[in-house]
Amino acid sequence: MKSILSFDVDQTLNIAKTPITSEIAHLLTSLLRAGFKICPISGQKFDQFLIQIVNPLLENGASPEIFKNLHLFVAQGTQYYRYEAPENSSEGYSEAFWKKVYDFPLTSAQVKEITSALEQSARELGFWEEDKLKPGDEIIENRLSQVTFSALGQTASTEEKYKWDPDCKKRAKIVEKAKLLAPDFEFEIGGTTSINAFVPGMNKVFGMEHLMKELSVEKSDILYFGDMTQPGGNDYPVVEMGIDTITVRSHEDTAYALRGILGVSGNL
Ligand SMILES: [Mg+2]
Repeated sequence: MKSILSFDVDQTLNIAKTPITSEIAHLLTSLLRAGFKICPISGQKFDQFLIQIVNPLLENGASPEIFKNLHLFVAQGTQYYRYEAPENSSEGYSEAFWKKVYDFPLTSAQVKEITSALEQSARELGFWEEDKLKPGDEIIENRLSQVTFSALGQTASTEEKYKWDPDCKKRAKIVEKAKLLAPDFEFEIGGTTSINAFVPGMNKVFGMEHLMKELSVEKSDILYFGDMTQPGGNDYPVVEMGIDTITVRSHEDTAYALRGILGVSGNL
């Protein structure tokens, strides 16, 4: 019996960069209530975990007590947050009760090196789409433990993002060049327009190993869901380390599998 259900976020729990649907929110709530430990792990920052997962859970009626079973592995698990409400707290839910348990940030020199490698590569290939950015948006974002390239920025429409690089070929070319310019770092394709760059080893393997340590569990206790499980994808390291994985195409596949888990364990 798996006690830990761990999820990639973009395209696994949601449509990239948008809040989870109420169907996913209800399924996760039932699983949290049933005592499963739910561990989303994604390259995104903490605030996006609140916007995309935690807030929709609350909006769909989840009670904050079940958040003791929700463990947020932010920035590919190089940061870990858990919910620690004070005992006898009468205040209800508060964002302030999310406690950062650990954090492994990049140095500013590392951020600079990765940023210039990505920008130069994208420019040389004609994939630097600065003119398509919405005001205030940016292509390269420092996510503290990793640097993320999002070809059309963070706020482009999902439709535009899907169209930009559906076969991952543009990003594969950028990655190839950037690796030559910044050979000390790893570059990985994720989401719909993204490339994540980080210190080698600081990928989802790092996150999963810390998850096992923090929650005192073994690989066999974990079932992982991801959409980029092919070699080179950002979920592949989890497959490679021998954790049982379900490959999904979208949150609809994930919902289907979760309904099965809840049905089988009699908690639906
Ligand atoms: Mg994904």
